[in-house]
Amino acid sequence: MRRVFHSTWPVSPLECPLQRDSPQPREEPERPPAPRSPARLLAWKDCRATSPGTRRLTAPILREFDEAAWTRTPEMCTACLIEDVKRHMLSRRSLFSGAAATAAMGAAAGVLSARPALAQATGRVVDLTHSYDSDFPTFDGKPGILYEVDKSFDPDGYHLFKLTIFEHTGTHIDAPLHFAEGGASVDLLPVENLIAPLCVVDIKDKAAEEPNAVVEPADIEAWISAHGAIPAGACVAMNSGWSARMGDPSWRNLPDGSLAFPGFSKAATDLLAETGAASIGVDTLSLDPGNSSDFAVHSSWLPAGRFGIEGLANLDVLPAAGATIFIGAPKHRGGTGGPARIVAMF
Ligand SMILES: [Zn+2]
Repeated sequence: MRRVFHSTWPVSPLECPLQRDSPQPREEPERPPAPRSPARLLAWKDCRATSPGTRRLTAPILREFDEAAWTRTPEMCTACLIEDVKRHMLSRRSLFSGAAATAAMGAAAGVLSARPALAQATGRVVDLTHSYDSDFPTFDGKPGILYEVDKSFDPDGYHLFKLTIFEHTGTHIDAPLHFAEGGASVDLLPVENLIAPLCVVDIKDKAAEEPNAVVEPADIEAWISAHGAIPAGACVAMNSGWSARMGDPSWRNLPDGSLAFPGFSKAATDLLAETGAASIGVDTLSLDPGNSSDFAVHSSWLPAGRFGIEGLANLDVLPAAGATIFIGAPKHRGGTGGPARIVAMF
């Protein structure tokens, strides 16, 4: 079972002394110990730049590191610890392989993975998310997001929009609840499946010939032959080349207005259901192809407790295997899905 760090991690936290706005119960002394050295002062200064979600650290993890080489204090927040580990790794680069460094970084962040297939952090990060506004194409043609100015600099002194959003807008999540009564809502997606090995299945050639082309079992089998088994928890994404059409009507429909875009076949997702895959993604408007009349993939994949991502961008930049996807799913309670920020690292 993979442990994923988050701000409510309940294992006896040590708090960064300058992160004093935590809503969590405090077990450490109310006042931090006084700074004793420039190094400690620097550590605390760094803490000010961290987000509330990165403030905790467990003592057992601290002890996993080489104390002789350690130059900071055990009161550091997680972000500070990560920065220290980075500096420490750089200074000992000749002694560390990329895999070892990544494992140590994972330990520092409280992200210890049992999965062997996550990317080894070469430093490339790709945004798989389209920017969207009320012109972004939607399945039913209605504007997916509407903006109203709620506050403006003149006279309010600051700027704030009120948004009206249809959940399935832009690059977004389809949660099980979208097609299954009683299915998991988007806020209940297992957090360990939101950081996942990414398998990119390329069907651009046949999609260029047939707008409603589908990922077939043979495409999955070809990926497995080339790259090995689908890793546990993986996201399997279709790259149909459709992302390049964004901004053109052909991303959504044919000139006659009928929906036309590639998707998964049910036979392919039935095959994926026998693997460890936890999610599927498409660079089009729907998990099913545009000409689907029965939404067979939505109706089978989602009720089984898995989820989907629609409207991915930039899959062309990624390798077929070896990238890690970070799925910034929204967390509105009871939601069927929603706009998400998706990035990948490889
Ligand atoms: Zn959707």
